[in-house]
Amino acid sequence: MKKALVCGAGGFIGSHLVKRLKKDGYWVRGVDLVYPEFSKSQADEFIKGDLRNISIVDICVDGVDEVYQLAADMGGADFIFTGENDSDIMHNSAMINLNIVDSMRRHNVKKVFYSSSACMYPQEHQLETDVPALTEDMAYPGNPDSEYGWEKLFSERLYLAYGKNYGFDVRIARFHNIFGPEGTYIGGREKAPAALCRKVIESKGEIMVYGDGKQTRSFLYIDECVDGVRRLMESECTEPLNIGSDEVISINDFAKMIIDISGKEVTIKNIEGPLGVRGRNSDNTLIKEKLGWCPTQKLEVGIEKTYDWINETLHTEARYIFESPDGGDTVYRRTINSLDREQIKWLQ
Ligand code: NAD
Repeated sequence: MKKALVCGAGGFIGSHLVKRLKKDGYWVRGVDLVYPEFSKSQADEFIKGDLRNISIVDICVDGVDEVYQLAADMGGADFIFTGENDSDIMHNSAMINLNIVDSMRRHNVKKVFYSSSACMYPQEHQLETDVPALTEDMAYPGNPDSEYGWEKLFSERLYLAYGKNYGFDVRIARFHNIFGPEGTYIGGREKAPAALCRKVIESKGEIMVYGDGKQTRSFLYIDECVDGVRRLMESECTEPLNIGSDEVISINDFAKMIIDISGKEVTIKNIEGPLGVRGRNSDNTLIKEKLGWCPTQKLEVGIEKTYDWINETLHTEARYIFESPDGGDTVYRRTINSLDREQIKWLQ
């Protein structure tokens, strides 16, 4: 039985990947600073530890065949694009990656998956709403619009350098906006799909959307993302690949799609706020060529499932708080702060 280490196994994509690896017959060790927020980890062994600490990394890497590296200090626009977290983002994520390659080399573990991001692409290819989709060869000369993107670019090169000098078998995916159930939807680190769903659920008639709403993105449902990761890992492809949807949509149209799903009467107010690039989409030519596969599920299908999950989770948590006002953990308390008193009364 193959043994896999999933770094960031308490996070959104990592916790889903653990489930998938278990289905695929792996023995799985997970590591993270936190346990998964919404369901128990399916890892055979879960180490709660800080990957900035090399002694912890050594314990985690020891004895595995493959490493899936998804741990990063990250979040949505409110976390990445305000500038306030830049030093943490660069220091923490770079240190995690430096520790992992060093430990893998010393433990003779050679196969690694690294989760990069579309945020590593140069900003000049993303200045308009209708820019051509990003192909992998647009990565250089490097000029990401965030320190988060620069760290991803550095770490891609770090893994590739270990491939060149120490024979690491490296797989790199550049994820484009992954979303789905059991992802963070409150607290400042949530990304646009989850944030929009929560805003619509909580709305009494109007939601705030950052920017003029014409900025474009594509969004990929978690199951397809995890499928892509496993296909990439099983392939012979050693060059970085986009794992993203090529169904591009403006943020306001995306918000309208979610409002339609909710069946509520909600209008959109565009306000100033932290924004990323103006337009971004995934070009899937290379992944089709290399893996004979690319994501195809329509955005509406995935966002409906995500909306239903957030709706149910928010209301269950609110009910729980009402029944046990002194109980609950941080997640519940954060959630209740975002619900107004009227809604809580209605839930009794
Ligand atoms: P996430 O924040 O849910 O998961 C990352 C996990 O890393 C968290 O659980 C966090 O606790 C853990 N972590 C952070 N610092 C750590 C440390 N020092 N030691 C141990 N664990 C630590 O994020 P996610 O959405 O699951 O993303 C997973 C990976 O994919 C990240 O590397 C992210 O940059 C990349 N990515 C995600 C997206 C997306 O849309 N979700 C897009 C592009 C790239």
